Amino acid sequence: MNAASPIPTDSKVTVVGAGIMGRGIVHAFAVRGFPVALFDVKPAALDDALGNIREIVAGAVKIGKLTEETAAETLARITVGTDLAESARGADLVVETASEQLAVKIDIIRTIDPVVASDAIIATNTSALSITEIAAASANPARVAGMHFFNPVHKMKLVEIIRGLATDETVIARLKAWSDALGKTSIVVNEAPGFTTSRMSAMLGNEAMYMLESGVASAEDIDTALRLGLGHPMGPLELGDMTGWDTRLAVLQYLHQSLGEKFRPCPLIAKMVKSGRTGRKVGHGVYKYENGAKVAGSGLGSV
Ligand code: NAD
Repeated sequence: MNAASPIPTDSKVTVVGAGIMGRGIVHAFAVRGFPVALFDVKPAALDDALGNIREIVAGAVKIGKLTEETAAETLARITVGTDLAESARGADLVVETASEQLAVKIDIIRTIDPVVASDAIIATNTSALSITEIAAASANPARVAGMHFFNPVHKMKLVEIIRGLATDETVIARLKAWSDALGKTSIVVNEAPGFTTSRMSAMLGNEAMYMLESGVASAEDIDTALRLGLGHPMGPLELGDMTGWDTRLAVLQYLHQSLGEKFRPCPLIAKMVKSGRTGRKVGHGVYKYENGAKVAGSGLGSV
């Protein structure tokens, strides 16, 4: 089989990490016909993820994008588990999407590497970390690459494929074929901290927080400025709430360490993370959320 040939639909996928991204990634593969095993260290995250995937699927049925039958088939392709080696066994593709901490990712790669077949691909959805460093945890770093999805996965068309120092070109070609199979558009990036997307998004979100911290304008007005003045689909503070400020802080800390002073995380972000206000996923970030919707007037004013 040529590396660029279409992906056989019986190919098995394992997704490691059932957070904001893991659930979206599982849905993306399952709805396109692939069996997916989802693993998380927290059983509650698996329950939440399944509930969330059911909501996405029900929404698709409501607007006529899926039939009741294809919706049921999509859900039936998903299995969940709390034994990593068991979840990874037999996988053709593993997508690691656990918390943005290098040590966590390295541990996961070390556990799955001896379990999956020698021709299986291990991809990481890290937002910014070094693919080369993550790949070094595998006995075969040539099979490791970045496969960076965007939030919310069922709406965002891009997949950023990242080549580490040792990544084999057939792995890049296979990941492009996987992205095609998901109906996504892929780009290929050579490893660099934050790739093309997170580096720019982190810079913008950080600057918005510095502006908020120094009282330049209210959260609502900063977001409105970017939406209506610069044509962004959402404001940088709304986007940070959706991404999660804990993930955003981890990315900024890494970019600061690797690319220098211009990425120094705004202290307000660290303060928010310390107070548990990590964003939409907990119902409170820069804004408050009720039943998934932003509460009008809840944004931080000058602080
Ligand atoms: P999240 O905090 O919503 O979820 C992380 C999940 O990882 C949690 O359910 C946690 O229990 C689980 N986890 C922690 N340690 C684990 C382990 N050892 N094994 C398995 N699961 C473990 O985070 P997220 O926003 O879904 O981000 C996950 C990854 O995706 C990160 O690398 C992040 O940088 C990247 N990413 C995030 C976004 C975004 O917008 N949030 C976008 C693109 C990429």
